[in-house]
Amino acid sequence: MHDVIVIGGSYAGLSAALQLGRARRSVLVVDAGERRNRFASHAHGLLGRDGESPEAIAARGRADVLAYPTVALLESLATGARPIDGGFAVRAGDDEHLARRLVLATGVRDELPAVAGLRERWGASVFHCPYCHGYELDRGRLGVLASGPHALFQVALVAEWGAAGETTLFLDGKLDLDPEQRADLDRRRIRVELEPVAAIEDGSAASGVAVRLASGRLVPLAGLFVQPRTRPSSPLGEALGCQLDEGHLGPYYRTDATKETTVPGVFACGDAAVMAGTLPMALADGAMAGVAAHRSLVFRPAQG
Ligand SMILES: Cc1cc2nc3c(=O)[nH]c(=O)nc-3n(C[C@H](O)[C@H](O)[C@H](O)COP(=O)(O)OP(=O)(O)OC[C@H]3O[C@@H](n4cnc5c(N)ncnc54)[C@H](O)[C@@H]3O)c2cc1C
Repeated sequence: MHDVIVIGGSYAGLSAALQLGRARRSVLVVDAGERRNRFASHAHGLLGRDGESPEAIAARGRADVLAYPTVALLESLATGARPIDGGFAVRAGDDEHLARRLVLATGVRDELPAVAGLRERWGASVFHCPYCHGYELDRGRLGVLASGPHALFQVALVAEWGAAGETTLFLDGKLDLDPEQRADLDRRRIRVELEPVAAIEDGSAASGVAVRLASGRLVPLAGLFVQPRTRPSSPLGEALGCQLDEGHLGPYYRTDATKETTVPGVFACGDAAVMAGTLPMALADGAMAGVAAHRSLVFRPAQG
């Protein structure tokens, strides 16, 4: 019986495990190795590691955590979790692993718009977060491809990183603008493209990407932003009965301020448990979950 099993050994899960390892608790981290930002060559916005590769940050984090002798890592997909007397059983491969507490740090899966050429450029010239990638686009010409009403929020933000008056909202038939919304876009000097989008292509040397419209017209851009729908990448929490909240981009685990879910003894952190996550947020969230799981072992030892 481990003290804690952490499912998901990326930024949030490792951060939780670090706190627990430092408390000399036995921790098993189960990780399938599919970090959300694995498509990007650089990660930005993380103090002390700004601009490093996601792999390097994760590898360093893993080394930090595995230096604690009570922490073990299992590179595997957890396929089941169920309550047992005194804790939880987690299935991974042919084995079941037992623990008194669970931390779900399984991240989210991005459902990208079904436009030809978009998936191949995800993380390289097609992004979702201007805080993560906007600065590097060097105040160039930017675009936002609408999937729905959230595009209006995103394009107002993205325009902050673009050349003045050079940000385009591609409606692509996904959004009808009312006069007030149109006036707001005009006020922000955001262009609106009504023509349907046919494909996303490589840009020239001067532009990172280009949007091919239905008429064949090509719009070169430094970068394109989209609003993927997200949902927890693992169904394990829902199978345990953890409730979800609906965010503007998709569902995420409901937790209290200490990151405990609606199922006592099950904690959730990182992208799976926040409305819209980033790497520094995942680290902080994971630290909170690790500390809270430890405190629950100290102050609620009898809890099943
Ligand atoms: C293209 C792209 C670029 C990004 N760039 C940045 C950036 O520059 N800066 C920034 O701050 N943020 C960036 N982000 C956001 C960042 O990737 C996430 O906020 C961060 O990865 C969340 O960390 P996490 O630990 O919660 O989840 P993840 O990093 O997604 O890790 C979840 C882990 O859980 C594992 N897992 C899932 N289910 C199971 C299971 N059943 N069993 C075992 N393991 C499981 C996965 O395999 C994975 O290893 C980017 C996101 C994308 C999509």
